[in-house]
Amino acid sequence: MMAASSSQVRGRVDPGFLDEVCAVIPGNSRLETCIQCGTCGGSCPSIADMDHTPRALFAMIRAGLRDDTLASNTPFMCVSCYLCVVRCPQEIRITDAMYALKAIATREGRAPRATAPDFSRTFVANIRRYGRSFEVGLVVRHYLHHDVLRLPAMAPMGIEMLLRRRIGLLPHRIRDVQGLCAVLDEAARLDEAARPVPATRAAPALALGGEGAPA
Ligand code: SF4
Ligand code: SF4
Repeated sequence: MMAASSSQVRGRVDPGFLDEVCAVIPGNSRLETCIQCGTCGGSCPSIADMDHTPRALFAMIRAGLRDDTLASNTPFMCVSCYLCVVRCPQEIRITDAMYALKAIATREGRAPRATAPDFSRTFVANIRRYGRSFEVGLVVRHYLHHDVLRLPAMAPMGIEMLLRRRIGLLPHRIRDVQGLCAVLDEAARLDEAARPVPATRAAPALALGGEGAPA
């Protein structure tokens, strides 16, 4: 799927949406400083699978298009490579913004890919059980539950990664799983406590594209 034309974006306007998203991102996200240069989309390895480029998504947020933004698959296609963050001239915390949008969409049951939240829950469950990721268990469980017909197609890549020792066939448990779980619990508690009720901050609606707009 190619990234959709940003001019197709339509939706109910919520002028407080920018504040809502910023409130979920720890620290100063600088989202409101986006100059729509398109460097992020031009750097993104997942852009071909995204409904909207990151640039378009940030314009939608600033325009208050809450419903359209939360329906976009873009945050769920982000692979957290941070290349856009390194290259953004405004030092915007793009990857953190993607996490924030994923969290809001998942919390409201609006994640556009119904299997993405379950994938995330399985990943977290593995971390809590073993103290580290267990890729084989994650992928096998996920595809058995959601798309068993795709499992054979994943096998060659999995075997290649096993042979190159990039992943292990069996899980490895760290020594102090309980300690790690305590850290995760505390982080979740702090995250919940720090989440402010967003105040309305009017933001000018930006053109979602336009002549010569890159990426
Ligand atoms: S690279 Fe930064 S400033 Fe440019 S469009 Fe992306 S988020 Fe905005
Ligand atoms: S962090 Fe996400 S949005 Fe940014 S370049 Fe990587 S995949 Fe794309």
